[in-house]
Amino acid sequence: MDLKLQDDLKHTDQLLQLTKDFSSKFLSAIDKLAADKQVEINCRVAMPDKGMGGAAALEMFRQQYGNSLTAAAGPRYWGFVTGGVTPAALMGDWLTSAMDLNSSDKSSAAYYVETETIALLKELFGLPAEFLGCFVSGATMSNFTGLAVGRQWVGQQQGVDIAAEGMAALPGLKVLSGTPHSSISKAMSMLGLGRNSLVKLPVLENRECVDISALKQYLQLNKGPFIYVANAGTVNTVDFDDIAELVKLRDEYGFWLHVDAAFGGFAACSDQWKFLLKGWEKADSITIDAHKWLNVPYDAAMIFCRHPQLQTAVFQNAGAAYLGDPAARFNFINNIPENSRRQRALPAWFSLLAYGKEGYRWLVENNIALAKQLGNVLEDDPNFILLAPVRLCVVCFTLNIAGEDADAAVNEYLEAVNASGVVCMTATVYAGKPAIRAALVNWRTSEKDVTMAYETMKALAEKIVNKYTYA
Ligand SMILES: *Cc1c(COP(=O)(O)O)cnc(C)c1O
Repeated sequence: MDLKLQDDLKHTDQLLQLTKDFSSKFLSAIDKLAADKQVEINCRVAMPDKGMGGAAALEMFRQQYGNSLTAAAGPRYWGFVTGGVTPAALMGDWLTSAMDLNSSDKSSAAYYVETETIALLKELFGLPAEFLGCFVSGATMSNFTGLAVGRQWVGQQQGVDIAAEGMAALPGLKVLSGTPHSSISKAMSMLGLGRNSLVKLPVLENRECVDISALKQYLQLNKGPFIYVANAGTVNTVDFDDIAELVKLRDEYGFWLHVDAAFGGFAACSDQWKFLLKGWEKADSITIDAHKWLNVPYDAAMIFCRHPQLQTAVFQNAGAAYLGDPAARFNFINNIPENSRRQRALPAWFSLLAYGKEGYRWLVENNIALAKQLGNVLEDDPNFILLAPVRLCVVCFTLNIAGEDADAAVNEYLEAVNASGVVCMTATVYAGKPAIRAALVNWRTSEKDVTMAYETMKALAEKIVNKYTYA
């Protein structure tokens, strides 16, 4: 049979070359590409009977989508918290697909790559060796995993095996936090804890970090045990809970301490900023994203947890003889939600070895310096109001427009800024005000980018502030 698949097999080298050329062209133009674009695409390719082969599929992709690709990995994409891809991370990611190894047990190098990458990361972050680290698909899955093991621990305190009996055997478990990321309540929903079991504790005035004395009071008045989610880098203002104080309370009252350090964990790369994480090495579980500040491609994050038996109790593939006995032999798949999994660690392995502690220190400190620079110019500009001091890599601000118009004005402004293609940021609400966030976590971002983005931001702000102030 004249199968396209057989034909492509013969031309694998050429197909890789075509793909490499496409990638190179994309990357060499990423500085000029729009950071964001609202696109409408008519996706109407019919499922082909015979197939067109890889080369024609690439051509079809170029035609259909080529004009709608954006520089989300570029230097002026400041929306959400979105890292880029370092050159070495791209090498590792490409090889990951070329080899297609399943990173589970010792049946290939993939297992050792993951184990070694976790060890490298622990060194980078200054985390103790006793944490079991595993790659998962993102910080949401990492938070899910930490909470799942925390839930198992809470059950154990009460003589209940939740992995076996389910949450029905332990009603009323509460998760406490100050300013939790939305993925926490999502994970609670998935875990059967229920979103309504999230207790948001008071935060300090003009801050997003928990009020430790309010937590202490809560613990004195309510019967646990609880799970507490510490925030090490909130998305609006990158505020940090006082983790060292949380550790003391945990030791006194007994709760599971999970730290969501999705991007804030990278403060550990800098001698100047690592104090923000003081005490995190004593947490029960820690979430750190890789596809944000580590600048590896989507989808990669790590869960670090220091209770391996509880972790296996939750995630083991019990009774699947063909997967082996979880107690007899370590296998990643018995410790995390995913079973079959790509070699997520390899892009990180490449990037960590390629750039070292020094490279990541520079990356983190450079982004922080640039965020502060942007914060300073906005603060000096009467069109803007800086809503919080720039603590790390996020600038949270709004337009200088009071009253009812503020919402509409900020929306109109953000739409115009993002439509410019020069820079992309996201909307938020901070301290009850419509606000804008610029999150700088990309290795490509430079002073030139901040200047360029600010010029666009300023010109559009003048227009909109005038319109709403003198309308
Ligand atoms: C991004 C983020 C998450 C969710 O991460 P995903 O990688 O998108 O799943 C969770 N917590 C914090 C603090 C984050 O910044």
